[in-house]
Amino acid sequence: MGPALASPERLATLNGRTPTIATLCSHSSLQIFHGARREGFPTLGIAGGTAPRFYDAFPLAKPDKFLTVPTIKDLPKHADRLRAEATVLVPTGSIVEYLGAEEFLRLDVPVFGNRAVLGWESDRRKSREWLESAGCPMPRRYEPSDAIDGPVIVKYYGAKGGKGFYLAKNRAALDEFRPTGPYVIQEYVLGTRYYLHFFYSPISEGGYRVGSGSLELLGMDRRDEANIDELYKLGAQEELQKAGIRPTFVVTGNVPVVLRESLLPMAFEYGARVVERSIELFGGMVGPFCLEGIMTEELEFKVFEISTRIVAGTNLFISGSPYSDLVEPGLSTGRRIAQEIRRATDRGRLAEVLS
Ligand code: ATP
Repeated sequence: MGPALASPERLATLNGRTPTIATLCSHSSLQIFHGARREGFPTLGIAGGTAPRFYDAFPLAKPDKFLTVPTIKDLPKHADRLRAEATVLVPTGSIVEYLGAEEFLRLDVPVFGNRAVLGWESDRRKSREWLESAGCPMPRRYEPSDAIDGPVIVKYYGAKGGKGFYLAKNRAALDEFRPTGPYVIQEYVLGTRYYLHFFYSPISEGGYRVGSGSLELLGMDRRDEANIDELYKLGAQEELQKAGIRPTFVVTGNVPVVLRESLLPMAFEYGARVVERSIELFGGMVGPFCLEGIMTEELEFKVFEISTRIVAGTNLFISGSPYSDLVEPGLSTGRRIAQEIRRATDRGRLAEVLS
């Protein structure tokens, strides 16, 4: 058994009822609704303003009903309705972003996964403590006064999509940096980025055993980041700067990738240790998570971030990935979430997968 994350009071609205699977109409909602429908659940789309029309173009992923609220910040006022419909909310980066971390933690509706993970993910120092104590190599961290022996990246806390990040080739360039908020300085790792989409189930039997359950790898992507990914076309960074353009890491899309097969054991080892450590630190991370890192030419994977919810890169694999197809043909992360809710309901183990 995994630790109980949800109290009996939190789960009371689900007793003996088929849950309605709800999420925000954004981010990875198409695969979440599509997956929930394929597992036989009713679905509810939460939208700020008006219900988006684009679902009409995707009938297999259109939610059965919509809940429209003036803005997502108003969602807590509708918690009664969500509970009345036996809702399980599937969190995405968009929900946490629009609602705010505090409101999300307080929301009185069952949520898929362990909300306590948020406190460890959103604080760059705490996430480093978690990942390093799990044995994941990370980019070296510098204090502002440290000697610097290679290129560095300066990252703001909680920056979204690498907004305002600063690249410095050397000390002189770093000295020109004028911070506008709390930041960290990291070694700029040269290599290839990989975003590994894992799923941890504390209730599953068989498979790659971790904790009380199993770890699955459902896919892998790399992000297209404007305009840094196009930098090479204009030559060096200086050329861009002369043209008044600062490199940015704003995500514009995703491309599918696979890892050299000989590196998969390392990927699973890191995924497993991060889950094991999460169980020790805060009762465990449940469901989808993504290890984001850079593979160097020495074939060392340096993890620069963990995302502890479904990531948008999984949208590449709504009808399966080279990895998830070997778990179950056509399996998406959205459908895997719905399966977990179905299996936990059937086995009376919802407290281990909801919070
Ligand atoms: P998000 O929340 O959207 O994932 P973020 O603002 O938290 O983004 P990171 O994911 O940490 O930022 O980094 C954004 C991008 O910056 C990465 O996708 C990668 O391209 C680059 N990056 C981050 N850290 C490093 C590093 N140490 N070395 C090289 N590149 C890095």
